[in-house]
Amino acid sequence: MDRRGTKRRGENIEVAEPRNKLPGPAPSMPTDPALYSGPFPFYRRPSELGCFSLDAQRQYHGDAQALRYYSPPPTNGQGPNFDLRDGYPDRYQPRDEEIREGLDHLLRWLLDHRGQLEGGPGWLAGAIVTWRGHLTKLLTTPYERQEGWQLAASPFQGTLYLSEVETPAARAQRLARPPLLRELMYMGYKFEQYMCADKPGSSPDPSGEVNTNVAFCSVLRSRLGNHPLLFSGEVDCIDPQAPSTQPPTCYVELKTSKEMHSPGQWRSFYRHKLLKWWAQSFLLGIPNVVAGFRNPEGFICSLKTFPTMEMFEYVRNDRDGWNPSVCMNFCAAFLSFAQNTVVQDDPRLVYLFSWEPGSPVTVSKHQDAPYAFLPTWYVEAVTQDLPSPPKTPSPKN
Ligand code: GDP
Ligand code: MG
Repeated sequence: MDRRGTKRRGENIEVAEPRNKLPGPAPSMPTDPALYSGPFPFYRRPSELGCFSLDAQRQYHGDAQALRYYSPPPTNGQGPNFDLRDGYPDRYQPRDEEIREGLDHLLRWLLDHRGQLEGGPGWLAGAIVTWRGHLTKLLTTPYERQEGWQLAASPFQGTLYLSEVETPAARAQRLARPPLLRELMYMGYKFEQYMCADKPGSSPDPSGEVNTNVAFCSVLRSRLGNHPLLFSGEVDCIDPQAPSTQPPTCYVELKTSKEMHSPGQWRSFYRHKLLKWWAQSFLLGIPNVVAGFRNPEGFICSLKTFPTMEMFEYVRNDRDGWNPSVCMNFCAAFLSFAQNTVVQDDPRLVYLFSWEPGSPVTVSKHQDAPYAFLPTWYVEAVTQDLPSPPKTPSPKN
């Protein structure tokens, strides 16, 4: 797969605009699905290395205090009747989206645990560190027709850190977000509140506030092809009754979607929404996504569990469907592309990968502000770990 990716890149060398600081012609990478079919690449079963929580003030805690417990309503003949608009906007504390956190919380976890990482000495030095959500965007890129992305890559002590940059278009959309879309976002979180309890065996309490600062994040190790991965993703809840108590297989992802009535509506749901649901949960190793379907009045009236490993079956025979191999092969090829682009190890350097639907991925090189994202506290702490280099040249030099 990597061999194929390399050949493709060789055939697609293009000269980009002169604004980038890369020596010679800038490479680019195509995203057409047809280029990435073929066998499913190796993907290591994700294992949990640890976790952390963010509290109502978005403060970091190196424990599972924000983890909630899956607590679906009793299945006594009737379906649920959750009013997702209840509490909006008076019991809503939305996270401040102007605060760009980058990889900071994940780096805080890594700083505290880098001495105890499994995988042998030097494992981290060959790994890619990022958020699960960034990998999700890569997986769905070959099929995405609406939203582009920018990913900043900084190499530091052999590790490649990947952090998303909000595109100007995404920022403009966020600032102009229509009120109905704001309420829809709230409704997704409200559904979690109806389905989750604070303690195992207790019941959900939908009377409280919805505070989206609160998050429980799992930190996982995996590998895609020959790319070791350390990433973190927000987990909605744990199922205390899951057949396996071992994370991430006991985790459950919760989603809401519009109630569907026609076969055409279901088809479109399988083609678009299920792709995003699959990518997000597959990466982290979450076995089940529980969907709540809402009616036009904003009430959840039915629930359906989608096993992650069965999602592809809904589009397997659809010419306009998606293919997990394409998603994973593209992601593996992108990671190779990124690793090959980044040659100089320097946390102040940023290779900015940019993509817009209908175009190839391009790259430009930058130094320091505004793109550099590895915080000084992280770089300094990690640098101080290394045996300091000799002050005078050794005789051999
Ligand atoms: P997801 O898969 O898109 O939900 O993202 P992750 O699970 O990788 O989450 C990574 C971190 O980003 C967590 O701390 C989340 O709380 C946070 N996060 C998730 N979605 C958003 C978002 O839309 N905006 C911002 N600013 N942070 C987000
Ligand atoms: Mg969710």
